[in-house]
Amino acid sequence: MKIRIAIDGPAGTGKSTVAKKIAEKLGIDYLDTGAMYRAIAKIFLDRKLNPDEISEKTLEELFKEIKFDLKCEKLYLNGKPLGDEIRNPEVGKVVSKVASLKIVREKLTDIQKRLSENRSIVVEGRDIGTVVLPNAELKIFLTASATERAKRRFKELISKGLKISFQEVLDEILQRDKLDSSREVAPLKPAEDSIIINTDNLTIEQVVEKIFEILNSKFGRLVSINETNNCQ
Ligand code: C5P
Repeated sequence: MKIRIAIDGPAGTGKSTVAKKIAEKLGIDYLDTGAMYRAIAKIFLDRKLNPDEISEKTLEELFKEIKFDLKCEKLYLNGKPLGDEIRNPEVGKVVSKVASLKIVREKLTDIQKRLSENRSIVVEGRDIGTVVLPNAELKIFLTASATERAKRRFKELISKGLKISFQEVLDEILQRDKLDSSREVAPLKPAEDSIIINTDNLTIEQVVEKIFEILNSKFGRLVSINETNNCQ
């Protein structure tokens, strides 16, 4: 049996950590679609491309040069593993703009569908339950207040040694929420059949536990699927 689990929600809800833990416990693959949007945003920055002015033709040409692979939960762009360079604040500032471009969404959605084909997988993002995997076996939507999310993100960035203020982190989160929720194509919103979990007062472990309770009640005791992931 193949199980595809969609985990959506805004920045700072603990989505990535939760998604990784679920995949690890089940022994199945994991795809971080935000990393793909970030990788494209980084290319925009490196090549000084302006998302407000870029033509469809340039974007089509750009995507001809791009190949993503997923191997053992790691994403590769043209053979190179994606690293921390896609997590820097500069990328954070432009990524939602880049992610609102129709062609960028179409191309990445196609790639994400392909990477999720014929395997059990946990896929996290903003539009997984609504657009990328509308037939996912389980759809989870994580929420939390903006202040709580900014606190978590601030702690994470500081621990990585980045010099940034809490206000900057909060502003970036609010700005991204606004752009992600109001864009025309595939806006951030829960799928009708998703289960919404508010993580404000929950630890990561508690969120993972809740999702396992849901999985168990839906599919019976699922200790491990272990079919596609031969990475250890
Ligand atoms: O998940 P993360 O916060 O790294 O995603 C970065 C940005 O990528 C989001 O703010 C959003 O603009 C975009 N994104 C998206 N659709 C997805 C995943 C991410 O638009 N499925």
